[in-house]
Amino acid sequence: MASAAGEGSGDDVRTVDAVVVGAGTAGNYAAASFATEGYDVVVLERKSEDDAGHIACGDALKGASSFPEVIPRSYLESAITNDVVDHGRFEIPEHDTVLEIPVPGGLAVVDRWAYGKCIIEGAMDAGAEFSYDTVVQTVLQDDDGTVTGVRAVNDGDPITYRADIVVDAAGSMSILQDEVDFDGTTFDTNVSYDQFCSAYREIVEVPEEVPWKDALVFKPTERAAGYLWYFPRTGTEINAGLGFQMNEPPMKLIESLKRDLRNRPEFDGAVVKDKLGAALPTRRPYDSAVAPGFVAVGDAAGHVNPTTGGGIAGAAYAGSYAANTAIEAIEGGSVTEADLWGYNQNVMEHFGARYAALDVYNILSTAVDVDELMGLLASLPGEKLSEALYGGTTDFGWGLKARIAYRSLGYLGLILDCYRAKQLADELLAHYETYPTKPAGFESWQAERDRIMDEVYETTGAEPKY
Ligand SMILES: Cc1cc2nc3c(=O)[nH]c(=O)nc-3n(C[C@H](O)[C@H](O)[C@H](O)COP(=O)(O)OP(=O)(O)OC[C@H]3O[C@@H](n4cnc5c(N)ncnc54)[C@H](O)[C@@H]3O)c2cc1C
Repeated sequence: MASAAGEGSGDDVRTVDAVVVGAGTAGNYAAASFATEGYDVVVLERKSEDDAGHIACGDALKGASSFPEVIPRSYLESAITNDVVDHGRFEIPEHDTVLEIPVPGGLAVVDRWAYGKCIIEGAMDAGAEFSYDTVVQTVLQDDDGTVTGVRAVNDGDPITYRADIVVDAAGSMSILQDEVDFDGTTFDTNVSYDQFCSAYREIVEVPEEVPWKDALVFKPTERAAGYLWYFPRTGTEINAGLGFQMNEPPMKLIESLKRDLRNRPEFDGAVVKDKLGAALPTRRPYDSAVAPGFVAVGDAAGHVNPTTGGGIAGAAYAGSYAANTAIEAIEGGSVTEADLWGYNQNVMEHFGARYAALDVYNILSTAVDVDELMGLLASLPGEKLSEALYGGTTDFGWGLKARIAYRSLGYLGLILDCYRAKQLADELLAHYETYPTKPAGFESWQAERDRIMDEVYETTGAEPKY
């Protein structure tokens, strides 16, 4: 790797093929993908080596068995502390109901810090270099707008990295996008914290094994667009947390969690071992996450399922897709938006279109009454809900249909709203499946998407989210 002192503004200057900002899931999968192909890649992480990988999370991991092989899956195994989870347990105390909903395949709870360390080790073993205690402060940008590197502070000393490509994997609060001048690019700047969720979690140790070790437990908060969770890392170590959509008035997260914990007999004698909070983008994925020389991945590009808050899987795939596309672009000799566009397509095809459609339900949930929604859920049979959620079409059978219709009679207005929202979500999904193959078709694609979104707001009565 080339390194030259005293270049540019007087900082220490290094030149690499790729700079990845952030050693989270997205950053590590990106770095491992570059390094595996023999590229010089450095990961800049603001945290210390010890603290890196310590991320606020619910610790639920879905589908890890098919994550990109660039970090061999065997690396993740030691962090999986509970692999017997196979269903969601939805507690609706106001309606005296507990719904047990099977979740098919590939669900686990991890020790998140250990998982964070495992993927760093995976990227290092692939050949990526890590620089800890390095806070990226701004980007370098050519006169033609191409991002050519970053400026950072390492342990108090300024340092500049020049690179063919900068990967923004700095999470939901990334400052990089405030620093890049995106004028004249397609990069999505229609981003505000109203579209995010504020979340907080504690790791709690209990003296006796909980009776729901095989379940992810969910419970409504007083807000419809939010929930409390209890995810068992083991029978006696529980990740307990909650969140709310930030277009609503602030919620006292720590107090609300404490109140619920105090009222649960399973938590008598519990000890809190760790506390962390963060924001996560419960919004649609960025329309475009590329600009010349620059690509955003994971939370920094809205790659989170907006209904569950699950973002680890999206981050892993996005990191890999971004690096693979960048490698092709670098080999082709230029890193324009058009050269990087394939990354946008990969994301939309794999999970972006689905997340954008699911966002319709997030929007609906900000406009409905939480009691009514819980009442409706309580009236439905869990197994059939699971089939509806995970199995595509369902055949309820006439007897069951009649029973559901009878039990949910009081919620017909809400059922109709949900039905209309589903139709619009389907229309949106179909539109995202036509995501343009080149930047040229982007504006007209966005215009049609915005038309569908206007219908979503009109139908749900929700405030426009974008
Ligand atoms: C409370 C909570 C619960 C969640 N629960 C789940 C769950 O159960 N399952 C799930 O799948 N997802 C969950 N998520 C979402 C998931 O944690 C994120 O989607 C995922 O971690 C995103 O990975 P990432 O690599 O994009 O970002 P991060 O994991 O946030 O990594 C970003 C990294 O960038 C570093 N960084 C930031 N700025 C700079 C800078 N300027 N210079 C250098 N380094 C910088 C940070 O220190 C950090 O290490 C949860 C999120 C929250 C907040």
